[in-house]
Amino acid sequence: IRDIEQVKELIKSYPDFPSEGVLFRDIFPIFQNPSALDCLLNNLVEQALEFAKKQGSIKIDAVVGLDARGFLFGPTLALKLQAKFVPVRKVGKLPGQTIKFTYVKEYGQDVMEIQADAILKDEKVLIVDDLLATGGTCSAAENLVSQLGATVVLNQFVIELSDLKGRDLLTAPIYSILSFG
Ligand code: 5GP
Repeated sequence: IRDIEQVKELIKSYPDFPSEGVLFRDIFPIFQNPSALDCLLNNLVEQALEFAKKQGSIKIDAVVGLDARGFLFGPTLALKLQAKFVPVRKVGKLPGQTIKFTYVKEYGQDVMEIQADAILKDEKVLIVDDLLATGGTCSAAENLVSQLGATVVLNQFVIELSDLKGRDLLTAPIYSILSFG
């Protein structure tokens, strides 16, 4: 694998998964191919570094990864940015003092949670996830970070489903590596 377009070709699409009418984009074939994974991670890191530089060489303090596939990218990104990694999880998975945010999904609602002491006031945060769809999940994470008095400087995604307009729900700038209509 030499470039990101070849990585894109590895993403498999599954109609009607996990429910009817949804075209699910599966990123796991990328993880079966070390050179593809290497290319993708390099792109992600380069994009984040470029963003930080463009903002006047800001220091990103924390990378927040979203449950569950954001955890596949967050720690690597955090290491390369010399930042800490912090998970945002679905409710009931994190011990200790937490704060929660409830958001409405297409069917029903979901609750996301973060450990209250994991991010400090005024810290600069990068949120990462595998995919931006309607934006509900990432918007919940933005809310949790701001409840802790920190600032989301960038939302970063491997894939953006542009037709779903998740961008419109988010406050901080959005970078994605790959886009599907
Ligand atoms: P949103 O809240 O933006 O509607 O949905 C994004 C969340 O759902 C992400 O955490 C993402 O992992 C998951 N998701 C939704 N659709 C897909 C998809 O087609 N492929 C993958 N890999 N994840 C998806």
